[in-house]
Parts: sequence; C-alpha cells; structure tokens
Amino acid sequence: MPLQLYNTLTRKKELFEPLEPGRVRMYNCGPTVYSFAHIGNFASFLLADLLRRHLEYSGLEVLQIMNITDVGHLTQDNVADAQGEDKLEKKAREEKKDPWEIARFYEDAFHADRKLLNIRDAHRYPRATEHVPEMITMIEELLAAGLAYEAGGQVYFEIAKFPRYGILSGNSTEELMAGESGRVESDPSKRHPLDFTLWKRDPKHLMQWDSPFGRGFPGWHIECSALSRKSLGEVFDIHTGGEDNIFPHHDCEIAQSSGGKDQICARHWLHRRYILIDGKKMSKSLGNIYTVGDLVQKGYTPREIRFNLLIGHYRANSNFTFQGLDSARETIRYLREFRRNMLELPARVTPAEEIQTVASLSQERDRGFRAGLDDDLNISASLAELHAFVSEAYKLATTEESGRLAVARLDAWDQVLGVLGERDGSPDASETTARVGKSNWTAAEVDRLVGERNEARARKDFKESDRIRDVLKAAGIVIKDSPQGTRWHAEG
Ligand SMILES: [Zn+2]
Repeated sequence: MPLQLYNTLTRKKELFEPLEPGRVRMYNCGPTVYSFAHIGNFASFLLADLLRRHLEYSGLEVLQIMNITDVGHLTQDNVADAQGEDKLEKKAREEKKDPWEIARFYEDAFHADRKLLNIRDAHRYPRATEHVPEMITMIEELLAAGLAYEAGGQVYFEIAKFPRYGILSGNSTEELMAGESGRVESDPSKRHPLDFTLWKRDPKHLMQWDSPFGRGFPGWHIECSALSRKSLGEVFDIHTGGEDNIFPHHDCEIAQSSGGKDQICARHWLHRRYILIDGKKMSKSLGNIYTVGDLVQKGYTPREIRFNLLIGHYRANSNFTFQGLDSARETIRYLREFRRNMLELPARVTPAEEIQTVASLSQERDRGFRAGLDDDLNISASLAELHAFVSEAYKLATTEESGRLAVARLDAWDQVLGVLGERDGSPDASETTARVGKSNWTAAEVDRLVGERNEARARKDFKESDRIRDVLKAAGIVIKDSPQGTRWHAEG
C-alpha cells in the first residue's frame, strides 16, 4: 500500500511521493533552547522520528534537518510578531549567565534527552545563530522583490503583497484582524497590523548582529525559511512541527520562502497535536509540564516514555497519563520476554512445514504492519499486527530456528518503533547486530568512522582522512561528499 499522509496544507490525506525518486528531504522545526524540552515538545520530535524511521523501513533514503532556535524568540505568540519579552534573555537574567551559554546548555540537554528517547540523529542540527548571514541574504531578496519594507530601523514582511498569506492555517486576513484587534499593541511603523518582522531592532537585546538594515537580530520565522532553503533547497518534501507552529510560524515561513514566486516551500505539512496531561492542557499553573528527566526521576525508563508518546496518533489529542506509562512498561516487558522465550526454544531440527508457516506469518503480518503506518502513520493498526504476530508465533514456533525467525521480524519492526533495545539509551538491538554489506561494522560504527574522516578533513589532516577512506573502501563501503554532507553505502 502506498504511503498516504495527511497534509495540513490541503486538509486531506494525500499520496506521498518524494520529489526525487527514492529520496526524501524533510525539515523539522526544532527546539527553542531556553529551557528543557518537555514531553509535549518531544511528542512533536517523535512524530518526525517515527516518520523518518517508517520512510527508511519502506526503503527510502531520508535527509532530515532540524533547526536549533538559539536566538531566543517567543514561542507562544498568538500573532506573527507579538511584542514580548525574549525568553532566552529573561532566563539569562534570572540565571545571571550570558544567553549564549544558556542556549548551549539547553541544546546539550535537548540532545541528551533525545538520545535517551532513542530519537535518531537528524543529518544536521543547524543553529540559528550560525546562519544569520543566510537570513540577512533572504531579507535582502525580499526587500528587492518588493515583499518587504524597512521602517523605524526594522524590516517587515508586507502581507498585502502575498495574497496567499494564511493558506496553511486557513486564516483570512479579515478573520485575523477581527481576532487580534485590541490584543496587539499596534506598531506605528507597520503598513498593516499583521505585517511581521524579519529583522528586529532592540538595543536591549543581548544577541546582536550587524546588517545592511542596522544592528539587530532576525525574527524567528525567517530562521526556518533560511535554514530549510540552505539545507534542502527551495522546495522540499516534508515539513513538520507542533500544532502551535501552524500559525503564525509556518504561515509566515510560507510567505517568506515563496520569494514572490508561485511556490510553497514544502509539499507535505505534518503537525503534532497537543498532548494533554491527565486530560488537561499542559501549563505552569497546573504543574503538569514534565520533562524526560522528571519522568525518569519518577522511575520510568526513557523507552517507556518513548513508547507511551508514540502510541497516540499524531493527529489526535493524545492523553498522557501515568497509567499509560505503566501499560507501556507492561507491553515492553511482554515483548522483551517474547524475544527471550523465542531465543530459548530447544535447538532441534525444525520441521520444514513449521519454518514455512512462521515465515509466511511473518510476511503477512509485516504487510499489515506496513499498511498501518502507510495509512497516515496509524500506529495502533501496526501494533495490532505486532500483537497478533506475537500470540500466533507463541503457538507455532517450537524450535530455536523458528524462534529466531520470529525474533528477526520483531527486531525489524523495532527499527521503526525503537522501544525494545535492551538497554535504555542504547541503539536498537537490531541495529547493533546488523552488519553493513560485507564489512564487519554496524551502521553506527560506519557513521562514526565517516564522522572521524570528516573531522580529519576539517582540520586539513588529509593523510588521516584518506587513511579512513581507504579502510572503508577495503570493507566495501563507498563514501560520497555532497553539499548536503557525506553519504555512504555498501557496495553490491
Ligand atoms: Zn520553524
């Protein structure tokens, strides 16, 4: 069954076909690093991870980019550029550190939690602060195209020049005006109250850059437009984010990235709905904003947290509860036990018929598992196949050989689910044992070698980088450098 994904842009499920056959380019709105990411944030990053893993399981190559918002913008703004306090700087004042230090601290924490949750590494995590020149270039282009204007030391996007503004959220300018009137302090420099800032001026802001428009800092929306274009090109396949990113963030991004042309930067837009905690919206006042660390302290493992966040459909307001975590724990235990039991079956000759039955059961259930995820990531349908497989395998497999067949199926599925690896924070069991091509290495080991080679190249130690390339070559692994980074594949 071909992959169908719901597209926020068209408000319907659509057949997914990458622009470039076999290769998917995906951009995910990443964390704002002024505090610990909470499980609501991770629910959105897990949507990206599940999608990436399913695409790869379906045989597609995925290039995944997730930005790190370290300039410190508002995230809860209801309007395109609400006036408000810069969160990173508020934090910096409270913690008496410089905002760069704060951003690095929370960026590291994000990656640590992400690894605990077994979220695969994106191919790159570009930081906003390291791409200000790209953002300035884009703003200059928008000015030159007549889509933006300078006023009062700031640069604004003029929404009147982009009639499709609001296309993603379905908001019309009139509705927005009605909804927001009285809530926004009007900025006299703007030509239209909904025009949003591309370049901001605020002498009190601690992070400042020089630009042709004066000293200041970029708006949040331009960051994702500039970073996605730089990493993935003007039009790419998939853009993901949380429900709260749809408006204004993604509508503004679409406006900026169009560059005045009749194009929308991403073809498929996926958004993770809010998760509720015990039926309530997460909020500071209710004290129900949990981080991965909070839940680990309560005795849950990161795999249990991952599983519990994964099993709710991304377009449903899933309800996060401790009972849910407990049942995730039970399921993981049950599956690991199945795995052990299968491997401990007696090592004796297996009747050909039994092997045949287990193999065809495995194939049939795999078709079902794939079909579930192909249907807009309907993970419950896939998990139903998994559970049916487990109970059938218990009845059919009587020898170690059949047991191994059953375990191979479970491990293959765990490349998508990522919940069964024996040790939390370790790669999936299936990934640690799978060797690449005729080499003696796992994919993770090859990645590490390729990384070491790139580091050697970066410090101009070509002797070392060539040596690593030769070692890889001898093992039948070919590496290719491209503007998108280094890619590798096993020969033959
Ligand atoms: Zn973004």
